[in-house]
Amino acid sequence: MLNIGSKIPKIASVQKSIENFMHSSVIMQWDNISKTILILAMGGLDFLVWILWLVYSYHSPELNHWIDSAHYPFFLSFYILAAVLYFILIFICYRYKRNKLFQKYMPYIAVGYFGITMLFAGFAIGTSNPATIAGYITVVTVGLVLYERKIIYSTFIPGTIILLLLITLCAKDLIIYAPIFSAELDAGNLYQNSFWVYSMLFLYTPIFIVSIVLFEVLLIQWRNRELLINEISRRDPLTGILNRRSIGEFLKKLEDQHEMYAVILLDLDYFKKINDSYGHDVGDQVLITVSNVLSNITIDGDCLGRYGGEEFILILPALNKDQAINIANRCREAIAETLIRNEDGTEFNISASFGVAMSDETSKKEDVIRMADQALYIAKDKGRNQVQFLS
Ligand code: GH3
Ligand code: MG
Ligand code: MG
Repeated sequence: MLNIGSKIPKIASVQKSIENFMHSSVIMQWDNISKTILILAMGGLDFLVWILWLVYSYHSPELNHWIDSAHYPFFLSFYILAAVLYFILIFICYRYKRNKLFQKYMPYIAVGYFGITMLFAGFAIGTSNPATIAGYITVVTVGLVLYERKIIYSTFIPGTIILLLLITLCAKDLIIYAPIFSAELDAGNLYQNSFWVYSMLFLYTPIFIVSIVLFEVLLIQWRNRELLINEISRRDPLTGILNRRSIGEFLKKLEDQHEMYAVILLDLDYFKKINDSYGHDVGDQVLITVSNVLSNITIDGDCLGRYGGEEFILILPALNKDQAINIANRCREAIAETLIRNEDGTEFNISASFGVAMSDETSKKEDVIRMADQALYIAKDKGRNQVQFLS
């Protein structure tokens, strides 16, 4: 059985997934202000973690000596101020989210603020320590997936220059390294100091967890979107059944595998009259109804598509001539029995003419289609609403 046919979900489920996708407020679909609020909330919460860490370390008698008491008030004030400003910025985002200028520039301001505060927090614990570097890389990666590149680069490029400058200045002893830690801690072996190691883990872990979750969500949405776009490109937008391109692919697979198949080509009778009498919208509704009727008759492994305006095609693998003609007749009867109801309550019938052709192991797909088309022409010529076969 061929994949392309057997994997086709029914029309309703495709329409539903398209609708869900269009209406869901997935992160990738969010506008820049919603993404900005997300970034600000992450920054604000991260600074609450920093405050917790600093206050706990300073007020814990056995850890207190690792913190530089002269710098403590400054950094605590900075962390509190940074956190408060994050939440004020979130409030401002809600307040002005409809302002066009605000929508344009606020992401730059928020990402810039995020970058500056994170750099400064990194400087406090040491610019070249693992938590700062790993945090920096993680945040930039997520930022690039979340935002347009120019927004991230506008902070990432100057931010990286500042980070490298700080690392250089510290290495040359021109500025103090890791000012939040006491000289006693700085003088010892950092990697054997359990306070330092646990502090790095504690400060980096929230960034890591949030970033991984966000990254995973974005990647899933990205893949889903790709699948959906791929699915949409295979389908006729009006009826949801396969379009001509996918039908060509389906036939090519059968041809390559030298599989036998039947082609049923059908064309609605006097469809122009329906459009002229009831309007184009009713005509569209008829096309949708017919595709539903046909999809109810087909089974997994069959291929149903819209071949042209009011022309449909069924490709039925592994069927003999009689079975194919039988299915064509079932489709013809089902269409003829379908009543189309107008908005004013009046009803009318439709019919379709069918041409059926069979492939053999060596036939080219174009030849089989041409035969089905000729059979359809004969069905029209002989009075419509009938099935004709050519081989
Ligand atoms: P016949 O029985 O010989 O097939 O006659 P017909 O009127 O069905 O054939 P004709 O080729 O003269 O007209 C086909 C009509 O189908 C003309 C075109 O406007 C209409 N049509 C094609 N695509 C669409 C569509 O997507 N929606 C609607 N409403 N009409 C369509
Ligand atoms: Mg027609
Ligand atoms: Mg036609």
